[in-house]
Amino acid sequence: MISDSEKQLRIIGTQINYYFICKTKLWLFSHHIQMEQESDLVSLGKLLHSKSYKDEKEYTIDNLISIDFIKKRDYLELHEVKKSNKMKKSHEYQLLYYTYYLKNKKGIKNIKGILNYPKIRKKATINLDKSKEKDLMDIIEDIGNIINNETPKPQKIKICRKCAYFEFCWV
Ligand code: SF4
Repeated sequence: MISDSEKQLRIIGTQINYYFICKTKLWLFSHHIQMEQESDLVSLGKLLHSKSYKDEKEYTIDNLISIDFIKKRDYLELHEVKKSNKMKKSHEYQLLYYTYYLKNKKGIKNIKGILNYPKIRKKATINLDKSKEKDLMDIIEDIGNIINNETPKPQKIKICRKCAYFEFCWV
């Protein structure tokens, strides 16, 4: 039997990311309407990763979180590679969730997250503190409420025209 705390952690990193981008996208993805493989943006992201960090290995853990690469120092350094920092909050919380997951599910405590933006030559360091952890717990609960309800009405936003679900929402 799966405990409540385990159920809480069966969230995919991508869902955390979509939570900040668009609730409709979050709902569609969570209901396995997954067209993202067709998205040019995702292909671009993969291309960017393979060009900029071709020697680094991607890690998928429990089919829930996918970390672009990891560096082992006297702490664990998780790296995410992103195209631009326009959606920084979604990137930040996705990486915070990876840290949260590894801490709570795998018992790894000494973790630092690094967001890499090679195109604009920027990096950001992400640390999970008590208040961020509380935020994440609220977000996870909210994600559960969203996906257990009706599809949220699409709201036209800037990224719609590049979104894999564009036809689903607007055509
Ligand atoms: S097309 Fe726009 S409204 Fe629809 S899922 Fe994508 S971002 Fe959300």
